[in-house]
Amino acid sequence: MKEQLADILDQVLRRNPGEREFHQAVREVFESLEPVLRKNPQYVDAAVLERLCEPERQIIFRVPWVDDEGRVQINRGFRVEYNSALGPYKGGLRFHPSVYLGIVKFLGFEQVFKNSLTGMPIGGGKGGSDFDPRGRSTGEVMRFCQSFMTELYRHLGEHTDVPAGDIGVGGREIGYLFGQYKRITNRWEAGVLTGKGLSWGGSLVRTEATGYGTVLFAERMLATRGASFDGRRVVVSGAGNVAQYAIQKAQQLGAHVVACSDSTGYVLDERGIDLPLLQQVREAERLPVSVYAERRGATFVPGRRVWEVGAEVALPCATQNELDEDDAAALVRSGVLAVSEGANMPTTPAAVALLTEAGVLFAPGKAANAGGVATSALEMQQNASRDAWTFEYTEQRLAGIMHGIHDRCLATADEYGAPGNYVLGANIAGFTKVADAMLALGVV
Ligand code: GLU
Repeated sequence: MKEQLADILDQVLRRNPGEREFHQAVREVFESLEPVLRKNPQYVDAAVLERLCEPERQIIFRVPWVDDEGRVQINRGFRVEYNSALGPYKGGLRFHPSVYLGIVKFLGFEQVFKNSLTGMPIGGGKGGSDFDPRGRSTGEVMRFCQSFMTELYRHLGEHTDVPAGDIGVGGREIGYLFGQYKRITNRWEAGVLTGKGLSWGGSLVRTEATGYGTVLFAERMLATRGASFDGRRVVVSGAGNVAQYAIQKAQQLGAHVVACSDSTGYVLDERGIDLPLLQQVREAERLPVSVYAERRGATFVPGRRVWEVGAEVALPCATQNELDEDDAAALVRSGVLAVSEGANMPTTPAAVALLTEAGVLFAPGKAANAGGVATSALEMQQNASRDAWTFEYTEQRLAGIMHGIHDRCLATADEYGAPGNYVLGANIAGFTKVADAMLALGVV
C-alpha cells in the first residue's frame, strides 16, 4: 500500500509540475491515508485517490480592467471546481499577487476535505486572481470585480458553484461581485455567493466565523488536557478578518492576546491588543499594523515573525507556510501548549513534526478553520428558506459544528491507533466521507 501511495503521489507531482503548494497539500494528506486504504480496498479499486487529485474542472481567464489613470490592466482569474460529490463547489476567492494555479489547487484540495469535515452538503472549490488590491482605489477594486464576474458568472449558480471571500476578498468585494452577477443574469440569486452584507442576504456570524471557530476548536482541544484560554498568553499572526475575530473570541474566553502581524512585521502589545483600534486601522483605514503600534504606544517590530515573542497558545491566521521549524522551536521553548491554524496550511510540515514530537496540541486548518465555510453553508440554508437567524442561534450552530469536527477528528485518530493526532483524524475523517460519496456516484 505504501508503494502504491508513493506511485500515485509521484504521478501527481509529475502531472502538476512546479505547483509546490499543491504538492505539499497532497503529500500531507497521503501521509495519513495508508491505514484507511488498507482497511478499504474498494477505494483503491475505484481509483478514488487518483480522482481526488484531479480537479473536476479548472477555469483560467483574462481579467481586463481600466485603472484610475485610464490605463488598461490585465490580470489572470482562476476558479478550480475541485470536487462536487457532496454538494455544489464551495470555497473562497483570493486576490493576492502570489496567486497562481498551484495556490488555487492547494486551497481547493484542502477545501474538499474541510467541507466534508463540516458535515454540511458542500463540495470543494477555490478561485481568485493575481490582482493586488493594495493601493488600489475603491473604484479600481469595483471595476476589477465587475470584470472578474463578467467571465466567472457563467460557471456559478446556487446549485453549481458558490464562491466566498479569502485573502483580499471581503464584504466590499463580495458586494461588487454579487451586483455584477445580478446585473448579468437578471436574477436575485442570494445563494450564489456567501459572505454577503447583512441587509442583502448575508448571515450574522459569517464575518466572525473563521476566527471564532479556530478559537472554539482550540478551546475544546485544550479541555482534553484540563486546560482553558483563561489567563493564557496568546499570539496571533495576521491582522485581517480571521485574526481579528480569533483575537475577539480568545479575549472573550479570558485570554491575554499580546501580538498580531501583517506582511510588514508584527506588533507586541503587552497590555493586550485593543481590537477596536486594530479594526479602525485595518478595516476602516486599510493601513498597516505599524500605525496601530504608533497610536497605541505599543512596539512594532519590522520584517520579523510574530512567533519569536513566545506564547502558550499560537494562532497562525495569516497565510500558507508562515510558521516554520525555527518558529516552532521558539514556540516550544516558550512553553506553547497548543497551535490552532486559522489560515490554510500556515505551518510547514517540518514545523508540524517538531510541534507534535514536543507534545504540543496541533489543530490543522482543514479542521480548525472550517467554521468560516460551515457558516457559509448556514448562510446558504438561510437563503434557501428566505430566513434570517439571530446572532445567538447562528453562533450556537457554529459552536456545535466546531465541537462536532473536533470530536470526530479525535475519535477517528483513536480508531486508527493514533490518539490525539488531529492531523491524521482530520485527513481520514474528511477523506472517508468524500470517498464514500464518490463510490456511490460511480465513475463520474
Ligand atoms: N476562504 C474560506 C476558507 O478557506 C471560506 C470559504 C467559504 O466560506 O466558502 O475556508
